[in-house]
Amino acid sequence: MSQRLIMHVDLDAFFASIEQRDHPEYEGRPLVVGAEPGKRGVVATCSYEARRYGVHSAMPISEAFRRLPPETIYLRPDITRYGEVSRQIMTALEAISPVVEKVSVDEAFLDISGMERLIGPPESIGRRAKTVIHQTVGLTASVGIGPNRLIAKLASDYQKPDGLTLVMADQVGAFLDPQPLTVLRGLGVKSAPILHRLGLRTVADVRRLTLRELRQHLGELAGTKIHEQAHGIASDRVHSDSERKSISKETTFGQDITDQEVLRDTLHWAAQEVGYIARQEGRLGTTVSLKIRFQGFETHSRSRTLPTPTAADLEIFRQAWALYRAEDWQGRPVRLIGLGIGGWESTASQAVCQGDLFDEMTSGPDPKQDRIYETLDAISEKFGRQSMRLGIRRRKD
Ligand SMILES: [Mg+2]
Repeated sequence: MSQRLIMHVDLDAFFASIEQRDHPEYEGRPLVVGAEPGKRGVVATCSYEARRYGVHSAMPISEAFRRLPPETIYLRPDITRYGEVSRQIMTALEAISPVVEKVSVDEAFLDISGMERLIGPPESIGRRAKTVIHQTVGLTASVGIGPNRLIAKLASDYQKPDGLTLVMADQVGAFLDPQPLTVLRGLGVKSAPILHRLGLRTVADVRRLTLRELRQHLGELAGTKIHEQAHGIASDRVHSDSERKSISKETTFGQDITDQEVLRDTLHWAAQEVGYIARQEGRLGTTVSLKIRFQGFETHSRSRTLPTPTAADLEIFRQAWALYRAEDWQGRPVRLIGLGIGGWESTASQAVCQGDLFDEMTSGPDPKQDRIYETLDAISEKFGRQSMRLGIRRRKD
């Protein structure tokens, strides 16, 4: 398997830098873009000169005002203008890699795997991104390159502003270990104090705990996520913005249907179609939705969020069927029924099948089940989609 290489590009003090670029008289001065002093609201972005006073994004404007000297410039955000600059940047980045995922107005992930042949070593690709941005909009960006999104993002943050940090797969541990555990994502108001009370301060401290211990302290979901991240495991998928947000399948019946078994089978078929496509595209969804239409075009949608992301037919079907069953709809004639999956999640834990992680996972993705689906999908590919279906147990209920 070829080595994955993800680049994260993050503009430095984006709003403030645009203002300083467009108003040379603001250069070198503390500058705040955000709420008006004296009113409620927060700092959106501030210049590096303002950061020296301890001011940062999301700080209440009243506190920023107290800290900053009188010569500070306060501006209201000009979202239209910033949006235009953002579009210029994203277009420029597409010249480097066709796979650019904009994650915010001033941040993007690029999949640069295999681009070395075209551009050169990873450092050159990173430098190219910085140069292209500077030439296009006259702003500086910090760039991080790593084997997945988490590492790339932390790397871009590592030497701000105007930084370029490269973390290769064999350097991930050494890169993460000394960092404060607050760099891990999903450490919310609940988890952070728990880890703090346990005396954990750095990522290396967290790594010393087993998955089981972390789950005991933080719960299944947060414990698993923190464990993965502390080991540098994260998604390495970059989705261009044009990509679909969800996959769905629906059926309109020739005549209205009341037979529960037909509805059940139809949903099951739709789940197989949707699951197949999701697996082909390497996606795991966290949201399953149900769509149903009764006589007279009366249409309803229901959805639920899953504790564990999935692309498994039976799980998708089970969730959609539960959504149907939760309503008082049995016996009503159905004209259309369908389901969908979306809310894509990392598939990194599937990619990283080695190590002790899987042995300890109980509620995570089931590798055995994945193998079953791989086999089924391969057969389907060869003989057509109708050739094989996973049977479901029919239960009279
Ligand atoms: Mg930024």
